[in-house]
Amino acid sequence: MSTSKIPHNVPPHVLMLQALYHRIPQSHDQFAYIEKKMNNELAGLYGESRLLYPLSKFPIRKVSLPNIRLSIDSNYFQIDYLILTSKFMLILESKYYSSDLTFDQVAHQVVQRIDEEYKVYDDPVLQVEEQVYQLSNWFNANGFPELPIESFVVMTNPRTRLRIDATNNHHAEKVVSLQRLPSLFRELDAKYEKNIISPRSINEITHKLIQQHKPYLPNILEKNRVSKNELLRGVYCLQCGRLGMKMMQYRWRCPCGYRDRTAHENSLKDYFLLISSEVSNREFREFTGLTSRYTARDILRRNSSELVGKTNVIKHRLSYDYKTDFEYLNVITKFLQTRRKSR
Ligand SMILES: [Zn+2]
Repeated sequence: MSTSKIPHNVPPHVLMLQALYHRIPQSHDQFAYIEKKMNNELAGLYGESRLLYPLSKFPIRKVSLPNIRLSIDSNYFQIDYLILTSKFMLILESKYYSSDLTFDQVAHQVVQRIDEEYKVYDDPVLQVEEQVYQLSNWFNANGFPELPIESFVVMTNPRTRLRIDATNNHHAEKVVSLQRLPSLFRELDAKYEKNIISPRSINEITHKLIQQHKPYLPNILEKNRVSKNELLRGVYCLQCGRLGMKMMQYRWRCPCGYRDRTAHENSLKDYFLLISSEVSNREFREFTGLTSRYTARDILRRNSSELVGKTNVIKHRLSYDYKTDFEYLNVITKFLQTRRKSR
């Protein structure tokens, strides 16, 4: 129980954004917006992953849950890192801002300066305090004992320069750098002397939290104003990161020379993330550029869990595990980020 039970992984809505970035033409109106949004999300996740090492130095037994999303009275709230101990809980909100940051406790804003440009963000301390309030409500609603809740905003980009005025206690106490975490943990450990709940209760609460975790699953096309027929069709090559593999004698072949029997599986996963978890033979062929309906039928039979009969159309149901089945996305994202930038 000393380390995280859930591997640190990419939440579904970010996987969807990656798939969308791979399938949207660079000439599309929304391209720049989607690219920026995806890059921000990935940078944020990178920032969160930087918490793992300091967390491993946490001096007491704990369970840490990354990216947990819960609801109370049908309002959703999301916590970057929730750490449960038998003495207290800890909420960490990771912020991967770059450049100079000035914290304003009167206006409750964070002002970021990049060259001569200023950008204003909402106060992350207010955000984390709201999470404390929501989590405390969630504990009450689920009949769990009251545990003290501590919360901090962690700046995970070491190159960020923080400007917090000496009189600004609101931010000075709650905004910390990554390097500050180990000493902070020791202080918290010393501050809370008594165990309030047993290791068994921690397990029960963890189980409930995981059970009630509701991942954010937006309709990614609608949300980003992209229509299905604007998406790039075809099968990606994992060796060179280009779209356009052709099926010949049950093998996908890329002009770069790479051959792969199962390259279509990733296109099916893209279809699942972007369009639907149900796909017909014709939709599959249109999406991948496969011409033979018999080859398509064989592939779909191997990759879908059941058939859903709707009037005359046979649909195949796709089902994947968001935690383990989408690693190919990072391979393609890296190829595209390099190639699209160099244009
Ligand atoms: Zn290739």
